[in-house]
Formats: sequence, structure tokens, C-alpha cells
Amino acid sequence: PDILLPKQARYQTALIPDCLLRPSFRELRMILRTIGLVNEKAKKCSERFSSQGPHEMRKCCPHHTCLPLNSGALNIMPAQILDGKAIAQQTEAELSERVARLKEKSGGQTPILATILVGGDPASATYVRMKQNACKRVGMASIAVEMPKETTTEELLVKINELNSNPNCQGILLQHPVPPQIEERDCFDSIALEKDVDGVTCLGFGRMAMGEEAYGSATPQGIMRLLAAYDIPLQGKHAVVVGRSPILGKPMAMMLLNANATVTICHSRTENLPAIIGGADLVVGAVGKPEFIKAEWIKDGAVVVDAGYHPGGVGDIELGPLYDRASAITPVPGGVGPMTINTLILQSVDAGEKKLA
Ligand code: NAP
Repeated sequence: PDILLPKQARYQTALIPDCLLRPSFRELRMILRTIGLVNEKAKKCSERFSSQGPHEMRKCCPHHTCLPLNSGALNIMPAQILDGKAIAQQTEAELSERVARLKEKSGGQTPILATILVGGDPASATYVRMKQNACKRVGMASIAVEMPKETTTEELLVKINELNSNPNCQGILLQHPVPPQIEERDCFDSIALEKDVDGVTCLGFGRMAMGEEAYGSATPQGIMRLLAAYDIPLQGKHAVVVGRSPILGKPMAMMLLNANATVTICHSRTENLPAIIGGADLVVGAVGKPEFIKAEWIKDGAVVVDAGYHPGGVGDIELGPLYDRASAITPVPGGVGPMTINTLILQSVDAGEKKLA
């Protein structure tokens, strides 16, 4: 009679006869992986992602063929996908309306973001282009400043000061990294606080860390927005941030601390990194090395945020095995990256509203 059942159900009854067998969670997961069955929760997830490409769907629900199982032992919880691309698109729709309203109120003016690219690094040029395109999508104008790779600190400071005093420009983005002869910190810090929409100045960082009003550094601020969009609880949780760079790791740690997480910051001299990560309820990978943080270091049910992006579409964390072990996960690509650009644009619109309204 089994022959009348769908193929997967036949496998199921063969493997779990009469549902008398109660396999352990680990065994069951192995069986399910083999036969490609996932539970009802995965079905919901796959439905949620069915409007997107098969790549996203597969991450959430390996086979997208879901049969309710009646063993009672089943408790597979695929990680919730923290879909930065979707949240960014949703925010862009709201930003377009805000820009249109601002234009109406201010007699046709829109907020303007100035982007500064020094040197011809192709990756940096691509990032700047993506940011300018995001401005266009929400109806904002941008000023593109391109300077040669031999530019000195003084020349760059002159340009930044010009933009600081340009009333038509409400936000300034200096693309990181700049060529090595330039004092990047001095240049970042010369950006006027009210135009620091990428959140790179020491003053902005200090104010943010003290809970005062300031634009947050775009990547960690984007991560905080993404966690908030999915109601990820942070209060009292142990967050481990791997990386302590001025634009990512350090502000990330401060933002999580401000959200009442208990924060550990790790870096290249940290001892027993796997053990520290193993205790984390939330892990943020900001190391800059492909898949440096191993899936086996991360405990079941943790929230996994991968800020990295490397050729081949991998991040700083080995994400593959975590899609059915973490409670929530940022995909690479499509997680943190779109939220970074989106945060820059959001903060530019905020700056425009403060100035033009
Ligand atoms: P970074 O300036 O190179 O900083 C890397 C950090 O990782 C440093 O603090 C370093 O520690 C730490 N580190 C290096 N090796 C380590 C090890 N073996 N164990 C523990 N920590 C180690 O990089 P970043 O600018 O912060 O960027 C980090 C990642 O985020 C990169 O993958 C980058 O591509 C990505 N990113 C993404 C976006 C986006 O929009 N999605 C934006 C910015 C950056 P030390 O301080 O001790 O050297």
C-alpha cells in the first residue's frame, strides 16, 4: 500500500515506522536532511520567502517540500532569515515619500549627499556608485567628488571643508579606505557633525556611546535596525562582537551596550576565541577574513550577524551549517550589506529634513 503514498511519505514511514520510533533531535535532523523533509515551521518560512529567489528559499527551507510529521519528536527550527534586502527596500519606499514631501515644502530642493572617492580602487568605486544609485532611487541628488590616488591629506581636508560650508549639501560620505599617505582619521574628523551621515567622526561616536543624539556608524546602525525590524531581543543577552574597528566593531559594541546587552569585544589578540563565542546569545562577525568564525563555535539557538563580504559571496562566519541551528541569521549577501547603504540614505534624509524643513 505504501506505493500509493507520495515518495517522501514512503521514505518517512520506512524510516519512522508507525511513528513508534522516537529518534533524538540530532538523529531526526540527519534523517530529514537525507530525505529532504522539513516541518511546518519551515513551510511557513518557505512561504514567506517564496516571493524571492530559490537561493534565499533554500537557505531557509532546504527542499521547500513540507509534510507535517507526526512523530512528536520533531522540533526543527530553521533560522529566521534577517532579510536586509527586504527591509532596505521597504525603507526606501518610505524614504521616497519623505523626500517628495521635503521637496514640496522646500520649493523643489532635495537632500544632497556628497560622496568623496579618493583613488581608483574598483571595490570602493563600486560601493560609491551603489550609494549614488540608492540616492537616485529615493529621489535624492548626490554630488560625486573624485580625487586622484596621489591626493594629500591637506588637499582632501580642503575639499571636505568646502563641502562643510556648502549649504546645498546636507551629508558627506568619505569612502573608506583612503590611500595610505592620507591621515584618514583627521579627514573623517573634519566632517561637520551635522553632515556626518555615515557616522565616522570621533565626536559622533562619543555622542552615540554616551546616548546623545548623533548619526550612528552606518554598518552597525544598519545591523541594529535589522535586529529591531525582526524584534530580536537584546536586553540581558550576551553579545560577542568579533572585531574592534572604528567604523564597525567598536560602535557595534557600544550600540549593543546601549540596548542593554552584555557585550564582549574580541580582536586579534583575544585568547580562547571559540570558547568566548560559544557562550554568545548573539555573535557579530566583523573580522574581515572569509568564514573565519566556524559554525561549530556557535551555540544552537544563537543569533548570527555576519557583517563580512568576500568574493564568492561568503562572509566572516561559516554560515552554511547555521541555517538550521541558529535562531536567526543574516544571509550573505542580502543581510548586513543592503542595511549599510540604506542607513546612510536614511540618515541623509534625516539631515535634509533638519536643514530644509
Ligand atoms: P578591519 O578594520 O580590518 O578590522 C578587523 C577586525 O578584526 C580588527 O579589529 C582585528 O583585530 C579583528 N581580527 C583580525 N584577525 C582576528 C582574529 N584572528 N581573531 C579575532 N579578531 C581578529 O575590518 P572592518 O572594516 O571592521 O570590516 C570587518 C568586516 O566587515 C570585513 O569583512 C568587511 O568587508 C566588512 N564590512 C562590511 C560592510 C558592509 O557594508 N556590509 C561595511 C564595512 C565592513 P585587531 O584590532 O586586533 O587588529
